[in-house]
Amino acid sequence: MDLEYTPEQQSFRAEARAFLEAHVPKNLPPLDTPEGFPLHVEWEQLLFDNRWAVVDWPEKYGGRDCSLLEWLIFEEEYYRAGGPQRATQNGIFLLGPTLLKFGSEEQKDRILTKMARAEELWCQGWSEPGAGSDLAALTSRADKVDGGFKLYGAKTWSTRGTFSHKTFGLFRTDPESERHRGLTYFLVDLQAEGIGVRPINKLDGDEGFAEVYLDGVFVPDRDVLGEVGKGWNVAMATTGPERGLTLRSPGRFLAMADRLVALAKDRPDACDDRIRDRVADHWMKAEAFRQLGLWTDRRIAAGEDVGAESSVMKLHWSHLDIDLHETALEILGPDAESEMKNGAWMKSYLFGLANPIWGGTSEIQRNIVAERILGLPRK
Ligand SMILES: Cc1cc2nc3c(=O)[nH]c(=O)nc-3n(C[C@H](O)[C@H](O)[C@H](O)COP(=O)(O)OP(=O)(O)OC[C@H]3O[C@@H](n4cnc5c(N)ncnc54)[C@H](O)[C@@H]3O)c2cc1C
Repeated sequence: MDLEYTPEQQSFRAEARAFLEAHVPKNLPPLDTPEGFPLHVEWEQLLFDNRWAVVDWPEKYGGRDCSLLEWLIFEEEYYRAGGPQRATQNGIFLLGPTLLKFGSEEQKDRILTKMARAEELWCQGWSEPGAGSDLAALTSRADKVDGGFKLYGAKTWSTRGTFSHKTFGLFRTDPESERHRGLTYFLVDLQAEGIGVRPINKLDGDEGFAEVYLDGVFVPDRDVLGEVGKGWNVAMATTGPERGLTLRSPGRFLAMADRLVALAKDRPDACDDRIRDRVADHWMKAEAFRQLGLWTDRRIAAGEDVGAESSVMKLHWSHLDIDLHETALEILGPDAESEMKNGAWMKSYLFGLANPIWGGTSEIQRNIVAERILGLPRK
């Protein structure tokens, strides 16, 4: 494998670096707050106007037709420059790729550009009060009516649900069906009649989630994604990117590991041998994730299906993120509390604690690795 970047890739990196260094906003208020959210959206729009919002999408939707490798390079530069969390992430990283694969031309033309420009923000409406790890246990239903469907049920833990305009989720369209069968993937307007959105605060107090109630919400036929009754297959196309590379790219952890090294150098008195070993360990694991990303990119480019291996990546970054933060907090000691105000280590630690839950828990990822990669028997 050739680990050198081509001259074109190097000039792509230089162009991204120049833009990001000049434009990344500093000290934005937190994303999931009424004062922070619009400023993050403004930043997304600046990214879009300069064609940096969705570099790997087709040009007609505001992208640059870049390869996955170029997207990985962009992500490294984005986090190196201190870019904030993406307000559009559930749209551009989850629904977007699913629409590109399963959407009709009409759906793609109608939805993708607005999603990338942060004009329409999307949240994921999958989990239900009685269906999380076991998503196929979901009970929300959709009844066929003239010209569309009426949706009933409740979705929960929708990240950024209070700030979003639309949601995407699975509903049971065949009342006789069980488990994975008879489900349909719907795109739902959160302003529609019959919708109720209730905010749920995160550990840090920000309005990070919402519960979404649906009581006879009309969704037109044109907002079914994929075939009626085949929603499970469409949804599984969303989980690959979520668990693997795209929702948490290696660039984020490389930048965080560099920040940790800088913090340790800044506070040598707080770092004994044990801490120094941990800093080195986390830095190497961030670099290992980068190598895993590059290897995965080559395999995808060769037409291979990454499949269950995205669970290995999810496990790796979920726990690396927590380790990086815990070491930083130990170095900061009592200063970690006051640092919370600036939205740095402490605040992102509180969110990081949820990594082994969202996007599929670590126990579920280990089950997948055990059964589908190692071939261990199912219990
Ligand atoms: C920060 C955050 C953001 C989220 N964002 C979204 C979102 O935007 N949209 C959305 O739809 N959902 C979202 N979720 C919900 C998330 O997907 C679920 O919390 C997750 O799938 C787990 O489901 P559950 O909470 O119902 O827990 P359960 O499934 O009830 O699990 C409880 C415990 O049992 C374990 N367990 C369950 N089944 C097994 C098994 N077969 N083997 C071993 N152990 C098992 C789990 O690992 C867990 O420890 C988010 C959650 C968090 C924390």
